[in-house]
Order: sequence, then structure tokens, then C-alpha cells
Amino acid sequence: MQSFNPPVRTLMGPGPSDVHPRVLQAMARPTIGHLDPAFIGMMDETKEALKYAYQTENELTMPVSAPGSAGMETCFANLVEPGDKVIVCINGVFGNRMKENVTRLGGEAVIVEDKWGEAVSFDKVEQALKENPDAKIVAFVHAETSTGVASDAKALCALAQQHDCLTIVDAVTSLAGSELRVDDWGIDAIYSGTQKCLSAPPGISPISFNERAIHKLTNRKTPVTSWFLDLNLVMGYWGKGAKRAYHHTAPVNTLYGLHESLVMLMEEGLENSWARHQANHQLLKAGLESMGIGFLVNEADRLPQLNTVFIPDGIDEAAVRSSLLNDYNLEIGAGLGDLAGKVWRIGLMGYSARRENVLLCVSALKEILAIK
Ligand SMILES: *Cc1c(COP(=O)(O)O)cnc(C)c1O
Repeated sequence: MQSFNPPVRTLMGPGPSDVHPRVLQAMARPTIGHLDPAFIGMMDETKEALKYAYQTENELTMPVSAPGSAGMETCFANLVEPGDKVIVCINGVFGNRMKENVTRLGGEAVIVEDKWGEAVSFDKVEQALKENPDAKIVAFVHAETSTGVASDAKALCALAQQHDCLTIVDAVTSLAGSELRVDDWGIDAIYSGTQKCLSAPPGISPISFNERAIHKLTNRKTPVTSWFLDLNLVMGYWGKGAKRAYHHTAPVNTLYGLHESLVMLMEEGLENSWARHQANHQLLKAGLESMGIGFLVNEADRLPQLNTVFIPDGIDEAAVRSSLLNDYNLEIGAGLGDLAGKVWRIGLMGYSARRENVLLCVSALKEILAIK
């Protein structure tokens, strides 16, 4: 066996996205103890920077030591008790996973379904809230990576609050890629991932809980069934103050990477990062439309960081993706579910959202599809 040397790729799929060289360099720094005072100082900075990224003052803002799916489970495992009614909005792959979380925890999922490629319907959620006055939580995906749709998190959270429901919001693909304001929008519990628009490697899930969410957590009648994800215990390690206790061994070097990516986000400015994703989306849109390739999602609900586009007729789509990978070192994503074979998903996330990547993608597609 020999050392593994991965090929150098340009990642323009649904994640992971390209990791910035500064982040990779940070991760190569020496491992220190997860209770070392120097490490704890870095943890505190990371929490502060995550508050900035989320636009929140929530004290309980921290990275879970596992990928985005674990952030999702952290929110549901801590906030859903057996018998709790949860309105789950499903308009793609990730809403389905939310439903799985609710039912496995003994909650009752009330499903609000929208077509893949469409945003979560405000009216349907309102109807569900009226029909289920005993509902406790509304859960939805802000940026559906399976389809490239953005839902109106601000309006949905305001609606949920009117009906005395907490909100659980999936921001795995939205964080740092498009507008997201946790406090202004009244989001109660939120989770994300590091490998999409933060330009860091996979394996960490930043979460944030506000006071209303913490109130539900601390007033549970039953203990959180997951030991690892129980925030009451995790906060013994991630909570403020010097008296940190061992909970689990933090992924030290991966957290160096997250820290560096947040330093970079603060250097760029959050709103500039949103604007960069939007500008590159516009460039990609112009390039694809010049080839006659159109989008699945209507313009108003489109995510700049995840572009779901129709495959031209008569094209062997898997062969095109293989050629992109083998001949151009470029990865784009396939369609999922009913959209498999009909669309490609082109990601412009984090460090991948760069002009040179867009130009590479458009010209490579032109060559392969032989469009002059
Ligand atoms: C990628 C993604 C997840 C899952 O994150 P993992 O890090 O793969 O576990 C959840 N929700 C959305 C919207 C995603 O795009």
C-alpha cells in the first residue's frame, strides 16, 4: 500500500465544495489537546465567528463534531419529545430526512408537501398550523440542495411564531452562500455544515439554539435519547468558561480548518460572500442560457449556490459527467429521485464560487456537447 494522493479536482457538485488552500494549511498544523488552553481559546473564537456567520447573539452557537446530518439530528433529538406534533415541510430529499428524525424520536410528523423544484408553500403551512393547533414545531429546509430551491425562511418563521411553534431550519447549503439572519428572522434552532458555502472540509456541523429552543430543551419530561448529541452534556465541553469537561475528543485539526474558514469569511464580509455567490450564479446562468440550457427552478426561488439545470435532449448525461471528471477534473452533480437523468446540479459554493470555475464549467460543457 502507498500514500493516497487524491487527484486535484474542481468541485462544482452539491458538496463538498473546494476547500481553500489556507484552510488545508491550517489543518496541517500540529494537533494539540482538546482541553489545551490554547485550543479552548480557539474554540471561543470559533463560536463567536459562527454567531457572525449566523447573524445571531445566541449563546448556544457551536460546531457539532460530525457532518450536517448530525446537526439535523441534534436539533430534532433535543427538541422533539415522544408525542410531539411536528409540521415537516418536504420539497426535496432533506425534508424527508427531517420526517425520519421526527418519527424515530416518537414524534408525530404532519407533512406539508410541495413539488420538487418549488419552494415551501406559506399557505399550506398556514393551513397545517390551523388544522393542528397542538403542533409544537415547524421544520423546513431553507436551501434544498436536491433541487436548488430557496424557501422564505423569514416568512415561515414569523408564521410559526404566530402559532406558538418553534422552528427548526436546515441551513446546510444556505450558510454563507445566501442571505440568512437567524435573530432578525426569529429562527429558533438551526444547523449547517462546513463543506458547502464555508469552504471547509466535511465533518463539522455548526448549530445555534435561541432562548425559546433552550427553554423547550430544559423543560423536557424525558431525557434526550442520544447520549452523544444531548446538548445538556455537550455544553459541558463547548459552554463558556474555563471549567470545560471532557465530553468527547473534538476533531482538533478539522476545527482548525473551520476556524480558518471563518477568519476568511470575516475578512471577506458576510454580505460580500452572499454577493459573490450571486455574481457567479449570474455568470453561470448567462453561459448556460447561451447554450440553450435552462433552469428547473423559477427565477425568484433560485439558489445562487446550487444550480439545477435541464439536460439537453438526447444526451447521455452520465457520460458527460464522466468526461467532465476525467478530461477536465471537474465534478458536477447528478439529479436525485424523479429528477435523476433529467437535470444536473451545478454547485457554486464557498471557494468553488469563483469566476474561473464558472468559465471552466461553461467551456467544458460547450466542448463536450459540441456547441459552437
Ligand atoms: C448536505 C446537506 C445535508 C447533510 O449534510 P452532511 O454533511 O452530508 O451530513 C443536510 N441538508 C442539506 C440541505 C444539505 O445540503
